Amino acid sequence: MEILELDDATHEMLRWPMRELQFTIPVRMDDGSTRVFHGYRVQYNDARGPAKGGLRFHPLETMDTVRALSAWMTWKTAVVDIPLGGGKGGVTCTPRDLSLGEKERLSRGYIRRVANFIGPEIDVPAPDVYTDPQVMAWMLDEYETIQGRHVPGVITGKPLALGGSAGRGEATGIGVVVTIREALKALQIVSNQTTAALQGFGNVGQAVAIHYVNKLGGKLLCVSSWDHEDKVAYTFFKEDGADPVFLRSITDSFGTINKAKALQAGYDVRDGDAWRAAEVDVLIPAALENMITGHTVDEISPRVKVLAEAANGPTTPEADLALHERGVFVIPDFLCNAGGVTVSYFEQVQNAYNFYWPEDEVHHRLDQKMTGAFHSVHDMAQRMKVHNRLAAYLVSVERVARAMKLRGWV
Ligand code: GLU
Repeated sequence: MEILELDDATHEMLRWPMRELQFTIPVRMDDGSTRVFHGYRVQYNDARGPAKGGLRFHPLETMDTVRALSAWMTWKTAVVDIPLGGGKGGVTCTPRDLSLGEKERLSRGYIRRVANFIGPEIDVPAPDVYTDPQVMAWMLDEYETIQGRHVPGVITGKPLALGGSAGRGEATGIGVVVTIREALKALQIVSNQTTAALQGFGNVGQAVAIHYVNKLGGKLLCVSSWDHEDKVAYTFFKEDGADPVFLRSITDSFGTINKAKALQAGYDVRDGDAWRAAEVDVLIPAALENMITGHTVDEISPRVKVLAEAANGPTTPEADLALHERGVFVIPDFLCNAGGVTVSYFEQVQNAYNFYWPEDEVHHRLDQKMTGAFHSVHDMAQRMKVHNRLAAYLVSVERVARAMKLRGWV
């Protein structure tokens, strides 16, 4: 960050979260026992606007993962230049093992712990790994019950009937595909002659697959997904192109593709890591952190020209450096997957107006925002002769630092 010549106080403010909440959530289970869950919410920085970011329900969630993700949210909202800061939350749990009732009580318990610290002008949660519009609906209801009034802007990613935005569900995936489109254009590669490999077939992965095939005309060579029963991942290959709509029709709500049905439809089922070594032009990790490391980066085919980081933090710093040296065009996570939070922002705008836009308007504005953000990063990379991730940091950190300076914090 020397390039930005930040003073010590700015540097220190950017290194640490503004506020962290860590708490227990007792939940009455269906068998009558009480289980105590651990919950977190980190508000990393709110100089540019209310803290914003998703809530994950995941067995490996910790304060450290939430903290790192909340920092990324700060850069994410800044890179797309929406008037929001960064935050993230989570609960350590295995959602698949919870009944619907238990999940509802956990969601409501979470909100009771954070209700005093969130709000449309304070901190606004949203869906993330293993949370969905139904979880947002319970959380909204709990918050509004506590407040005794309607406050739809307190949370985004809500169901349409409760003030959600048209087009929010697919927004992250569409945003990813917009950045891939712009990257291919910048590299002068014709998108309908490209092939791609995708890891992860949850909410983001499914939308990426559908839009990559339908909008860019690319061929999806393989998709990898986690199998909850076998407790391993598999990669589903189809030489003449996977059909994302078919795959979605045989995928459960946790992103597990049905292996037997895929085999029956002629998919070749290989091991879970095979996506990484696939001979494709575009590689799209759309699952969790640390999927491409110093150990595994060499598996990536020399054919790969673009790495589109649909997941948060899929590439470790060693792998990132190696990819840069190989000349792979990396679309860094907090740029690549910023489409979700961008439409969350549109959702808040619509809630404030109490007037709702049609889906094509949402998608048109999303495309404009993502295209603009891509080019501000790409221009910065060319001007400063740095790789894309550093360029994205330069764009974002400069915006957050400027807001802090204007407020007189530093
Ligand atoms: N969970 C998404 C992310 O990581 C969306 C956050 C939001 O909409 O606030 O960007």
